[in-house]
Order: sequence, then C-alpha cells, then structure tokens
Amino acid sequence: MIINFGVANIMRTNYSPKREAIYEIIASTKVHPDAERIYSEVKKTYPEISLGTVYRNLVHLRNSGKIKSLGVIKGCERFDADMSPHSHFICNTCGRVIDVGDLFSIYTQRLDKIVEKELCVEVESHDLVFYGICGSCNADDRS
Ligand SMILES: [Zn+2]
Ligand SMILES: [Zn+2]
Repeated sequence: MIINFGVANIMRTNYSPKREAIYEIIASTKVHPDAERIYSEVKKTYPEISLGTVYRNLVHLRNSGKIKSLGVIKGCERFDADMSPHSHFICNTCGRVIDVGDLFSIYTQRLDKIVEKELCVEVESHDLVFYGICGSCNADDRS
C-alpha cells in the first residue's frame, strides 16, 4: 500500500513516544516489517493507537531519513531502519526480505562508474535487489 500524507505531519518535529516506539520495532528486527505488523506490535504498548497513526508516523520517519521504504512486496509496503548501504534478497514465494550486506561494493562502485559514463550523470546511490526462492520455501517445496 502506498501512503499519501498531508504536509502538516511532515512539518511536525516534536518528540513523539509513539513514533519512537514504531522506530524501535523496525530497528529491533531483521524482518523488514510492513505497517500491519508494526501496528500489531505497537498495540501491545499503545492499545489505543490506530493504523492511520502508524502510517503517519512511518511517513514521518521515512521523510526524516530515519527509515527507508523497500517498496511494495506482495501487496504491502515494507520498511527498513538499517540505513547503512546494503542490498536485499526478496523471496518471490513468501515475501521474506533478507539483508545481503555490502559484499560487493567493489563491483557496484564499478557499475556506478559505468552508469555515470553512459548517461553523463552522477550516481549518488543505487538499490540492488535479488529475487528468488528463499531457503525455507525451497525446503517446503521438496517435502
Ligand atoms: Zn520464501
Ligand atoms: Zn535491510
């Protein structure tokens, strides 16, 4: 789900314990959760919180550069609080997102150079995503 917000929420910079709790949920896991998953976690601490509030805070966190969106995977937008340069593997079967790490910066730096030369542009960042079948989906298939 792609979320659209008003400017008012982006402008608000005051500290919000709920936003902090939402950030902590994303930062404390490697699953790259979607809004629904974050919502069900944050409800344990703030039972009165609405899904809309979660969405608004996700956009605020994203716009302030504390988290990034990985885009829509199997119909749900997924989020990552690890802002260090790293790539992802996405399972086409279950939607699992696995960090690949920066194993090949030597190659990607070369790719950046090729793109810069070819298009006469300056590359500032790139996203490298691998798609396939994860280990557990592969195992399920064989059983
Ligand atoms: Zn899988
Ligand atoms: Zn990640």
